[in-house]
Amino acid sequence: MSDAFVTRLSEVGAAGRLSRQDALRVLSGEEDILELIQSAYVLRRQYFGRQVTVHILNNVQNGLCPEDCRYCAQSASSSAAIETYHMKSDAEIMEEARAAAENGAWRYCMVFSGPGPSDERVEHVCRLVRDIKAQYKIEVCVSPGVVTPEQAARLKAAGLDRLNHNLNTSQSHYGRICTTHSFQDRLLTLRAAKSVGLRVCSGVIIGMGEGREDVVEMAMWLRDLGADSIPVNFFMPLPGVALKEAVGLTPEYCLRVLCLFRFLNPQAEIRMAAGREMHLRSLEPLGLYVANSLFLQGYLNARGTSDLRTLRMLADAGFTIKSEVGLEELLGRARDNGASEGLKGLEELRPFCANQE
Ligand code: SF4
Repeated sequence: MSDAFVTRLSEVGAAGRLSRQDALRVLSGEEDILELIQSAYVLRRQYFGRQVTVHILNNVQNGLCPEDCRYCAQSASSSAAIETYHMKSDAEIMEEARAAAENGAWRYCMVFSGPGPSDERVEHVCRLVRDIKAQYKIEVCVSPGVVTPEQAARLKAAGLDRLNHNLNTSQSHYGRICTTHSFQDRLLTLRAAKSVGLRVCSGVIIGMGEGREDVVEMAMWLRDLGADSIPVNFFMPLPGVALKEAVGLTPEYCLRVLCLFRFLNPQAEIRMAAGREMHLRSLEPLGLYVANSLFLQGYLNARGTSDLRTLRMLADAGFTIKSEVGLEELLGRARDNGASEGLKGLEELRPFCANQE
């Protein structure tokens, strides 16, 4: 990598002001990947040290969605064999929040399928947020779909820590992955959340046929929106979803994408999200030097690897966990629970990616 480019990355990357041209250069194969990771790691270490934040997802409502997002197993356009259900009971949600807190999660994410909540549903979620925060030492994030500024304000008043609403892809690519709502709709929800002081989590899905310009565009939108947290998903084509395959994802390209998001959003919590095991493969630990967050216990409609394998990866690479419970204790608990590790953990992914290999 040229010295001039390294200098630009450290100077403009620290402020997230990378030019479009330099951003595209990060994604191209012309720069050495380890040198890019080193430059990204300088920023990661500056803002987050060697700490990793663990998130646990809970689909509190699954499937039955009328929208046609082509990547989504819960969509009307999907025939994926997923379990569908309306909202879980309060008792079930509270129990899962307790388990998340005990499993070392810093944040518990309640995810709703569907286009957006009614006012009654927002009131219900507000009650749950208040109860969870009163009982457990854990942050709460809700992914409710499209919300109005008034609904966002009620969630904020209830004590919600973060609202998730993903951009998923770029404005110019959006029509190819969804026709029932627009990129603009997504921006409105994110702006509504920001306008009432909610911290915002907004992510992307890489590998849905978008070009490098689209990836740069997404990272710049999230910078300009002031996203506090950015889950970077690598598309997992579950059998039955409308979009049949992940396009252009190699482990090295996935690392370049993570680096790009770090350079353009140096202070954001960058998460190696769904598909990290499938697409980063043996390079997954290198992603920790760029991203500072990951999901434990799988994704919305796909399993991840075992807790034990993920925790072991963090420990082996010398990272610590941001949690009320120490990493060694969590490892011990995972072992006691008979969790599988290593290759056996990866084997467990297979039923969900039969059309991937
Ligand atoms: S991503 Fe959300 S809105 Fe789109 S189909 Fe899936 S559940 Fe529905």
